Amino acid sequence: MPQNQAPGRRPRKSPYLFMALAVILLVVGIVIGTRALNAWNAYTVAAAITPTPSPTVRPIAVTPAPNLVTFTPAPTATPSALANGSTGDMVSQLQQRLKDLGYYNGAVDGQFGGGTKSAVQAFQKQHGLDDDGIAGSKTLAALYSDQAQAYRPTPTPKVNDTLSGDIPLLVNKWNKLPDDFVPANLVTIRDVAGDLLLYDDKTFQGVDTAVNALVSMIKAAQADGITPWKVGGAYRTIKDQQRIFNNRVSRYMNENSEMTRSQAVSRTRLTVADPGCSEHHTGLAFDLNVPGQYFVDTAQYLWLNEHCWDYGFIMRYTDDKEDLTGIIGEEWHVRYVGVDHAKKIQALGYCLEEYVEYLKSHQQ
Ligand SMILES: [Zn+2]
Repeated sequence: MPQNQAPGRRPRKSPYLFMALAVILLVVGIVIGTRALNAWNAYTVAAAITPTPSPTVRPIAVTPAPNLVTFTPAPTATPSALANGSTGDMVSQLQQRLKDLGYYNGAVDGQFGGGTKSAVQAFQKQHGLDDDGIAGSKTLAALYSDQAQAYRPTPTPKVNDTLSGDIPLLVNKWNKLPDDFVPANLVTIRDVAGDLLLYDDKTFQGVDTAVNALVSMIKAAQADGITPWKVGGAYRTIKDQQRIFNNRVSRYMNENSEMTRSQAVSRTRLTVADPGCSEHHTGLAFDLNVPGQYFVDTAQYLWLNEHCWDYGFIMRYTDDKEDLTGIIGEEWHVRYVGVDHAKKIQALGYCLEEYVEYLKSHQQ
């Protein structure tokens, strides 16, 4: 107990001491109050600029574009490019997205093959992109954006009409396809047939229905002991045909310096169709051969001539119809027209030109 304080008595306090305490409390109060206010301000500013996981941040999930069938979220990591031969989850996501939009009908298996490439090309074409079939950054950005459009089939001519429909598509030197013609549903033959066939070119493509029929036919031939079979020609673009045609013209002119260009063109036309006039543009025609043998001398030719009709194929060019087809006999060239048409053509003994005329005259 302090010495200067008498026991039992409260110490006396100076009024100045109360005033000093009041001032100190006031100052402390102001300081704390200001700090709290600053902290609140800082919090509200931060809250305004920091995104919060609210549903309104991703309107695409709530309101998909009208063309979208379903919305597939974009991959979390962006690869540099996906192309023929790519594999993995990114490819599966790509296939699923193409499928949702109606460009892809194949399996979502993470294997980037011919079918996936065709689907990418169809998407690129419809969106004004370079149709190289490679899903690079531009294509992927368009594909996963909400501007991506669902598949619209090419308006004319419709190859698939020739499969289910009234009159098979006729292509010859008098019936040229439009320059921008591309058949729908091209697939890489090897993706479907695998080792069943040999290939002059492993990237050969055809329309899926025709390729499936080809596979059924060759399986039946092999069951009869007729093998091997090699694909020597299949789908060809009009640009490919232009290049083949021009190369042949140049070769003739190089070989014979006295040959004029028009002479070289005439000579080329004996063996090479004009661009737009080859049946190989349809994706429905295949050249079949046997390695190392002239096809007409083989058991394969005899089997094909007897059975191709049952699988929807016709022997398209025979010597006796050369005047009508404009093409000399090509016993190795088969054309898919569907089983009904093929059987009628066989029964009538017509070439395709005659058969199309026949159908037209019976429709009216
Ligand atoms: Zn051919």
